[in-house]
Amino acid sequence: MNEIINLKQKAKNILHKRLEVSRLLIQTSPNIDSGDIRAISPVDLQLLFQLYDKIFFDNWFKTKFRGKFKFSLSRRMTRSAGHTKCPKNKDRIKPEDLTIEIRISIDFLFHYDLVEGNKAVGGIATSNSLEALQLVFEHELCHAIEYICFGKSNCSKDRFKSIVGNLFGHTGEFHSLPTNMQIASQKMGLKPGDAVSFPFKGNKLHGTLYRINKRAVVMVKDKQGTFSDKQGNRYAKYYVPLEVLEKY
Ligand SMILES: [Zn+2]
Repeated sequence: MNEIINLKQKAKNILHKRLEVSRLLIQTSPNIDSGDIRAISPVDLQLLFQLYDKIFFDNWFKTKFRGKFKFSLSRRMTRSAGHTKCPKNKDRIKPEDLTIEIRISIDFLFHYDLVEGNKAVGGIATSNSLEALQLVFEHELCHAIEYICFGKSNCSKDRFKSIVGNLFGHTGEFHSLPTNMQIASQKMGLKPGDAVSFPFKGNKLHGTLYRINKRAVVMVKDKQGTFSDKQGNRYAKYYVPLEVLEKY
């Protein structure tokens, strides 16, 4: 069962197989028709999984893993590009009842082109969002493999790093992907504390950028506001889509 973690792929073969996966995904996906992902659904992740299993692992998951996989896309993940969930009490679950879930951040894919510069995932440079998705997916597959073989997984530990290095040639961390905050600061030169403005019910409101998660959190002076600072000024909190936020 654990033979998979002793596999070591040659760098040249990894590149070749990765390209083969993307070629076949584009061929079979109902949504993805080029390296620039404009639409995606969980079906595409399922396809990607089958292609990786076949091309990289000789169907190891299909033949050795008796549980199930679930794939989902999330709009709420703003810091990490992917996440793999496995029940903690794995050993007490019947093998066929075990479900491992791989979740991919939609924002990470659709914001790919918003950031300039070196876009490396796992220490590997990428040139389009499909390549980035593949690298994230490879990382998550290694989490799944570690869960299956050892019951737990941690990508900051040496064991994970050697698995992901042997199977996919990843060398660096990748959970440090551009966040919305970084995108905003690069695109608009914004940082927390900056004066910003945004349209609201036909007016333009001015406030202070507090933080950026999915949307920007802006504090606007307001006598009726529920937030106050040390000087006793009162503020109301607004959640502003990044597209309409302006530097003031
Ligand atoms: Zn990880």
